[in-house]
Amino acid sequence: MKVNFFGAAGTVTGSMHLVDAAGKRILLDCGMIQGSDAEEARNTEAFPFDVNAIDAVVVSHAHIDHTGRLPLLAARGYQGPIYAQEATCDLIPVMLMDSASLQESDAARQSRKRVAGTPEVVPLYTRDDVQKMLPQLRPLPYHQRTTLFPDIEVDLRDAGHILGSSIIELFADGRTLVFSGDLGPKGTPILRDPETPPAADLVLMESTYGNRNHKDRAETVRELGGILDDAWKNQGNVLIPAFAVGRTQELLYWFARFWDEWNLSRWKIFIDSPMAAKVIQIYDRHHELFDDDALEVWKGTPNPFRLPNLHTTDSIQDSMAINQIRSGAIIIAGNGMASGGRIVHHLRHNIGRREAHIVFVGYQADGTLGRRLVNGAKTVRMFGEEYQVNAQCHTIGGLSAHTDQNGLLEWYGGIAGHPSVALVHGEDDAREALATELHERFGVTAELARPGAVREV
Ligand code: ZN
Repeated sequence: MKVNFFGAAGTVTGSMHLVDAAGKRILLDCGMIQGSDAEEARNTEAFPFDVNAIDAVVVSHAHIDHTGRLPLLAARGYQGPIYAQEATCDLIPVMLMDSASLQESDAARQSRKRVAGTPEVVPLYTRDDVQKMLPQLRPLPYHQRTTLFPDIEVDLRDAGHILGSSIIELFADGRTLVFSGDLGPKGTPILRDPETPPAADLVLMESTYGNRNHKDRAETVRELGGILDDAWKNQGNVLIPAFAVGRTQELLYWFARFWDEWNLSRWKIFIDSPMAAKVIQIYDRHHELFDDDALEVWKGTPNPFRLPNLHTTDSIQDSMAINQIRSGAIIIAGNGMASGGRIVHHLRHNIGRREAHIVFVGYQADGTLGRRLVNGAKTVRMFGEEYQVNAQCHTIGGLSAHTDQNGLLEWYGGIAGHPSVALVHGEDDAREALATELHERFGVTAELARPGAVREV
């Protein structure tokens, strides 16, 4: 078995690895590169392998940085199966249709602005491309070892990161490859804790937070309550950039849990994301994947997904109407790194207001507007204009959907025999710090996978 590293090797987006085994080529993830314009332009490049030589694709979870180039793969000739956990197969159409719409509108906007005589900008892929690809999806339940080809089997375990997120175990040539996908922290609301595979010959492990540990979750949740309280006193709005899958549902869970304590009935709560509204319905269809604690919360009142003051917006007009509100609104909108989406419009209206609060609840990749705000930028550019940052920015580290250094070490430590490990899905300082810890605790030398590198298993 041979693993070729292509994406999310030294970065946290564009997850993609190619496995050669038993005479077949299996692609693990086919994610979109996200970040600066220059980095995102790389999505249009040719795939670094022969698309027609791929025999199967297995996807760890529905996030765009793990699935975003699937329609492109199909449009460029891949016609084989795309395996993923059942809930992931429900989420993928929603995620990819949204991604395609964004690209269509971006391309149309760039085309309008182009220099006369230059060719029209074409989207990376369209909604039509997504529709054509969807029949290739093959849903798999967790814990059902499935034969993909003679001598190649796959099994999925719960990664506790978002609904349907999976750790992929690939068995071929008498070897076992474990791909962690993205690992959630223990105790993530709604979801079960990540499972540990019993054994492996090579582990591809994510390392997003390989160099730090999250704050205690209970403390983090208290902090969120405190920010909401301050914002109410300041008579401002609260903006929470959040991806539609995972964080948005978790926030609603916490709001239901602390409904009385945080006096949430006084706020207007907006989920300004048609996609998040669809994803909420998908979560609601998969209570079989909820942990015991979530099932208890869902028995009580209010129901996290049906809070009495929860407004979901569909049209652009509904979204723009929120901009008239100067105080008392909690606005949850995507995308989670403020590199695009409706949240940027809300930021434009609120960022200059001292009474407004912006709460970052997830990872902010290098090059994004979110990262600049988290780093304390005094001014930021949006829609070609410079804006003064007067709003108060908060980073709530402990709500991350990714486990931290301790969590990664504990997860790896549970795999028998401390197998070889290659670190993916992390910026270099995070990977280096994690590699040092892995060496000190387990005596294993972790490889920092480079794009284009090949590893024999
Ligand atoms: Zn993810």
